[in-house]
Amino acid sequence: MESLSEAALIFIPTPIGNIDDLSPRVLNALNEVDLLLAEDTRHTGQLLKRLGISVKLMAFHAHNEHRALEHVIHLLKSGQKVGMVSDAGTPGISDPAFLLSRACRSEGIAVSCLPGPSAFVPALVMSGLPCDSFYFEGFLPHKKGRMTRWLFLQSLPCTLVLYESPHRISKTLKEAVSYLDPHRQASLVREISKVHEEAIHGSLEALEKALVEQPRKGEMVLVIGPKEEASKKTETRSKEPF
Ligand code: SAM
Repeated sequence: MESLSEAALIFIPTPIGNIDDLSPRVLNALNEVDLLLAEDTRHTGQLLKRLGISVKLMAFHAHNEHRALEHVIHLLKSGQKVGMVSDAGTPGISDPAFLLSRACRSEGIAVSCLPGPSAFVPALVMSGLPCDSFYFEGFLPHKKGRMTRWLFLQSLPCTLVLYESPHRISKTLKEAVSYLDPHRQASLVREISKVHEEAIHGSLEALEKALVEQPRKGEMVLVIGPKEEASKKTETRSKEPF
């Protein structure tokens, strides 16, 4: 099998809902690594079983990444080829990877990340809201620091992208209505690549109401369009003659 990369560490994206999104390069990488770091070894074990791949697994998640880092760096320096996956999507995107990537950078260890699924890209594109300039917030803090984040988001002129759970989406929309302009256009995109994929569009106020009338389950991304002045500027800019 052709070697994918000279990199010692490969970040490997996995599907966010549809196994067919798993690329041949991802398959090759899973087959060629000596060790696979996984956010949840049981979850990844099931995926590997389905793919018929047998590889040594090691837990690497938010609760042990500081402790495990030194050991992983030692393995990489001793010549092991290491892969890393999260439960779904691209490692490092609202998932562990940053600490390890930074440690490799400071140790001069070559790193690669395969291109692959991540929920925010299809959500942004499906939203029909400007995606030339956007800010990815990921998850808001649950309690402490939440208001500070909203005040920061309020100051940004561009499209905003937030990850949210079905339990907190109503609270988040309610807060978005009060911290941002309630007429700001938004989209709630859920269950991307799954059978019940859905995108609902409207003002923040309308989305909040829609969820009160019909609560939505599943995994979801909230995309909030730019402030009115900013979107007008974008429109004007795109109409300018060259
Ligand atoms: N690493 C992942 C990525 O690259 O998108 C994100 C992991 S984060 C822990 C999980 C969050 O991503 C979910 O709460 C949801 O906001 C979003 N997400 C993941 N899969 C999704 C899907 N199929 N549809 C919509 N949102 C999804």
